[in-house]
Amino acid sequence: MSAKKIPYKLYLTEEEMPRTWLNLKAFMKNAHPPFLNPATGKPCAAEELEQVFCKECVEQELNTSDEEIEIPAGIRDFYTNFRPSPLVRAYFLERALDTPAEIYYKFEGNNTSGSHKLNSAAAQAYYAKKQGLTSVTTETGAGQWGTALAMACAFYGLELKVFMVKTSYEQKPYRKEVIKTYGGNVIPSPSDTTEAGRKILAEFPGTGGSLGCAIAEAVETAVKTPGCRYVLGSVLDHVLLHQSVIGLECKTALDKYGVRPDVIIGCMGGGSNYGGLVAPYMAEKLQGKNDVDFIGVEPASCPSMSRGKYAYDYCDSAKITPLAKMYTLGCGFMPSADHAGGLRYHGMSPVLSQLYHDGYMRVRAVKQTEVFEAAEKFARCEGILPAPESAHAIKVAVDEAVKCRQTGEKKVILFGLTGTGYFDLAAYKSFNEGTMKDYIPTDEDLGRGFAGLPEV
Ligand SMILES: *Cc1c(COP(=O)(O)O)cnc(C)c1O
Repeated sequence: MSAKKIPYKLYLTEEEMPRTWLNLKAFMKNAHPPFLNPATGKPCAAEELEQVFCKECVEQELNTSDEEIEIPAGIRDFYTNFRPSPLVRAYFLERALDTPAEIYYKFEGNNTSGSHKLNSAAAQAYYAKKQGLTSVTTETGAGQWGTALAMACAFYGLELKVFMVKTSYEQKPYRKEVIKTYGGNVIPSPSDTTEAGRKILAEFPGTGGSLGCAIAEAVETAVKTPGCRYVLGSVLDHVLLHQSVIGLECKTALDKYGVRPDVIIGCMGGGSNYGGLVAPYMAEKLQGKNDVDFIGVEPASCPSMSRGKYAYDYCDSAKITPLAKMYTLGCGFMPSADHAGGLRYHGMSPVLSQLYHDGYMRVRAVKQTEVFEAAEKFARCEGILPAPESAHAIKVAVDEAVKCRQTGEKKVILFGLTGTGYFDLAAYKSFNEGTMKDYIPTDEDLGRGFAGLPEV
């Protein structure tokens, strides 16, 4: 227990916001293996990546030496639109669980796009503008990334084309209206505007699309359009770098009260929010300065780390992106209709994959009905309706706090509450009506995904 009484909300002033991002890779003893060009099997050169991504993002992607990277004033300026984000001491949840544990959560859902994704959207749009580009493309599944990028493009004055997975386009009609309101152009994927889309439509006419297919369409459009690049909302190292503001703000706020987390929990889709949340504490662990228990949480329906293979794989299902070494279910793995759209990705951040492989973190896979039970409990005592993705972290935080009740340990638990659930009311409806199912792929389902892994 710390001496100072800890408030419900640990706010930072704008002055206290980080001025540099933290580059976790500079602390890793084992760098993750490089991206490979699938045609040659050789590591991708910066120039190749720069045909797809903004130059500055490629530099950050390949930077393994600078521990800190300056956040340009033009990005810090936009950050003040929605940061610092609140860090909350979950006194109400602690009381409800009757636990001796201290629970804290960092809430990233306090902006219109509703999630942490705006942290990297801001940076990527800023760098695109600075490079003199006129437009960017991207994909969006559930819609959070597309919304975040639309906000950032509106702020910096860039055109935006968003390829939205068709099932989301149809099931989440209001998401696309937000994107349009911020000036973005939304296209349901697969579409007939790209070769990749036309190919998939010819093969699977009735398909609802997938994130991988939408990525393929967005990359193709970026490469073929002058003054245009592709931006990605997760997985890549530079996205994790931008998300380190989450962890840095947590650490500044907690340090003021002398609070040291024992356990840090977060949900993982492509891994960017979790990589950002853990950054300063993982950097310490890599230097032997702490022994934090890092627990990444994924849906049992899409268990990229807990049941995936550590292998080179494509980042997209159309197999046009570079190969990344990561935990993966195979880029052909088709996840079930789980409601946590933001966590339905076949692979995982190469940085987190390497850290997991080296034993610096552990992983839990949880089922969606138990996730929603935790979401409901949390909403009723803490007031915030969580995104289904974020509720994966809540579920495991609650489990850890209950364990503390049983053992009497006063652990300090920090978790990432990545977003709000206001756009996910169809998921809450199915939970409330008792029609929600748990999807768990069989070994056969996984085998089909693994069979498509490229030989490297
Ligand atoms: C996208 C999203 C996630 C997944 O984030 P990653 O950084 O890819 O792991 C989690 N929560 C919410 C609310 C999201 O929108």
